[in-house]
Amino acid sequence: MADFSTDVLIIGTGPAGSATAALLSTYGIENMAINRYRWLANTPRAHITNQRTMEVLRDLGRDVEDEAYLFAAHQELMGENVFCESLAGEEIGRMKSWGNHPLSKAEHLMASPTMMNDLPQTFMEPLLFKTACSRGTQARMSSQYLSHEQDAEGVTTTCLDRLSGKEFTVRSKYLVGADGGNSLVAEHAGLPFEGKMGVGGSMNILFRADLSKYVAHRPSVLYWIMQPGADVGGIGMGLVRMVRPWNEWLIVWGYDINQPAPEVDEAMATDVARQLVGDPDLTIELISANTWTVNNMYATHMQKDRVFIMGDAAHRHPPSNGLGSNTSIQDSFNLAWKLAAVLKGQAGEALLDSYSVERAPVARQIVTRANQSIAEFGPIFEALGMGEGVDPEVMQQNLVARCDSTDAAETQREAIRKAIAFKKYEFDAHGVEMNQRYKSSAIETDGQPEPAFERDAELHYQATTWPGARIPHCWLFDHDSGDKFSTLDLCGGGTFTLFTGIGGEAWEETARSVGAEFGLNVVVHVIGPRRKYVDHTGDWARAREVSDKGCVLVRPDQHVAWRSTGLTSDPAGDLRRVFSKILAR
Ligand SMILES: Cc1cc2nc3c(=O)[nH]c(=O)nc-3n(C[C@H](O)[C@H](O)[C@H](O)COP(=O)(O)OP(=O)(O)OC[C@H]3O[C@@H](n4cnc5c(N)ncnc54)[C@H](O)[C@@H]3O)c2cc1C
Repeated sequence: MADFSTDVLIIGTGPAGSATAALLSTYGIENMAINRYRWLANTPRAHITNQRTMEVLRDLGRDVEDEAYLFAAHQELMGENVFCESLAGEEIGRMKSWGNHPLSKAEHLMASPTMMNDLPQTFMEPLLFKTACSRGTQARMSSQYLSHEQDAEGVTTTCLDRLSGKEFTVRSKYLVGADGGNSLVAEHAGLPFEGKMGVGGSMNILFRADLSKYVAHRPSVLYWIMQPGADVGGIGMGLVRMVRPWNEWLIVWGYDINQPAPEVDEAMATDVARQLVGDPDLTIELISANTWTVNNMYATHMQKDRVFIMGDAAHRHPPSNGLGSNTSIQDSFNLAWKLAAVLKGQAGEALLDSYSVERAPVARQIVTRANQSIAEFGPIFEALGMGEGVDPEVMQQNLVARCDSTDAAETQREAIRKAIAFKKYEFDAHGVEMNQRYKSSAIETDGQPEPAFERDAELHYQATTWPGARIPHCWLFDHDSGDKFSTLDLCGGGTFTLFTGIGGEAWEETARSVGAEFGLNVVVHVIGPRRKYVDHTGDWARAREVSDKGCVLVRPDQHVAWRSTGLTSDPAGDLRRVFSKILAR
């Protein structure tokens, strides 16, 4: 007999674990989350928070979304992305990033009701964790996962209470390993991985200093510093990252992974900060320093029967593109509703198999993208004639040479511009953030081929209601109050939602009655003039890719489950078939 029992035991209270706990509690599922430490993130590792993650927070509640914005540095402070020899030294170039270029900004505004922002992990984790605990999660801190065993009915997990030194066991129906890049749960479950850990070495130096005079006129979260050693290990170049504007900073600097990790003491940290800021008299208040490794590894399968892994446990990669915490939270959005549906008896267990089928390709995609982004600093070094390493004298000669009026200098200037602009694949890759389209048994195709991407799928999000894609965002208006709501606001929240239009009312009654057969409370919206929600702008009519009489059925994670271009001869039969397939019943 175990010491405790719960429906879902979550190992880890980082972004992945806390988001899973928050969602499960919101859906009314009993869960317990443990963390081996006494508190949450103690360094602000993740910060770039993309629109899809903000949509998960918005789905948890407008209060959760609003609190994130309250603590975040807003999008307009994120975007100049400067490349320079030091903060005080010469600027080599810059590119508008994170949705701040006017064209990209328009795409962001059209894609989502939410705004990208910079929310350090030291704020994100407490927000998710608080949401989880206040809604029902049983959290146990200073509790370390040791091992698990699973059988046909559940999982028995052995943990160590680090305060008493005693072991305890938890019996759960499911176990979620959200225990980070050195996941023991993944290891014990024997899950398969591809790639390599420890491909580069990095150090983090977190400090306070008012650097406004160097940065306030060119606000950014990232200032890339080209100095000797900048191309060794690490994330491709030296980095001064804003944590709080403009008085808290994180320096990321590489080291040779083949050498022992450096001891970063106060003297060394001050030295590195002075060098990268370019101010020999700078005084810093050192908060902390640590080293970490750049990884290039992903799980090719994220489930072993009743055990699931998510977040860094499944995808281990450098912070380039800012995808780690974002993808972790998005993993949880995919799994949580499925666990809830199975535990509530609405779905068969086979629904859970779709988690790995849908998310493992994302793990592979983001690990590959993040590592490629490191390599894509190379052309900047090449353009400055420093392909063989950053020699200070050569660097000065090349910086001088680019100011000449010769043809060679013009060619060099063009090459520098191009190399910096190409970094949009790291700093403005809206498609990487938003284009996930799932293909699994939890999606029912309508027979239409997948729409091809009309533009670069890494850079640009493309809206579609093709089953598997996230429902497009359009603003709709409340007929009585005039208030506006995103299509995303009208779905999610742990339920299936069906959108139809005037003439599609037959779907309405059918969706409710067929949903009830499966124990589901399907929400239905008939969009049109004099209905509750009106499509005044016509944006939804243009985006939905079905007729007024058709329908778009949306899963609780806001991905399209199925659609029909028009009213079918047997709506009840069709919906029954679709729910049976998706819910594995
Ligand atoms: C410098 C830097 C910058 C970054 N910037 C970004 C960014 O801008 N955007 C972004 O999205 N990502 C970024 N990341 C990545 C991001 O920090 C990670 O992807 C994210 O923290 C992963 O979340 P997670 O919940 O999967 O794992 P973690 O945050 O690692 O959490 C793991 C949890 O498991 C617990 N745990 C581990 N082992 C055990 C055990 N045996 N028993 C009990 N508990 C255990 C830990 O205590 C912790 O609570 C950055 C990372 C770094 C290093």
